Amino acid sequence: MGMHIGHGYDVHAFAEGRRLILGGVDIPHDRGLDGHSDADVVAHALADAILGAGRLGDIGGLFPDTDPAYEGADSLVLLARVMEVVSAHGLELIDCDCTIAAQAPKLSPYRDRMRENLARACGVPVSAVGLKATTTERLGFVGREEGIAAWAVALVADASPNPASPAAQA
Ligand code: MG
Repeated sequence: MGMHIGHGYDVHAFAEGRRLILGGVDIPHDRGLDGHSDADVVAHALADAILGAGRLGDIGGLFPDTDPAYEGADSLVLLARVMEVVSAHGLELIDCDCTIAAQAPKLSPYRDRMRENLARACGVPVSAVGLKATTTERLGFVGREEGIAAWAVALVADASPNPASPAAQA
């Protein structure tokens, strides 16, 4: 079975008057993240990790921010579409892990809900999705609360052949 690894990284800046959506969870905060879509930075990092493992480009290519169709888009829907693309290329997501760097707000209360949402969008068990959050000890743009960064790694495998398929029986 062929195994492939992918890595994704994304950053969005804070902006006034925006909701803060992370891993599909609407998190109470005085500001949200700016972006064409809902700016779910961890969903974007994960999508890029999965696409990277499949050597299938990136979400900027799949869902251009110049396309009005994606204005305010739910990034979990985009993540599910990424999984359709990956699946169409004969690949399946085996495991993934995400890290969010945010000085504020505190994200640990939302971690399990974020994992559940990301897993549902990817069509994998919750146990296949790791997620951690950290501050940067007030260093850098994250520490100055200018934005939030997220990283993800994904392990993708060539999908196992369907034992019922004629090709598998030949
Ligand atoms: Mg993004």
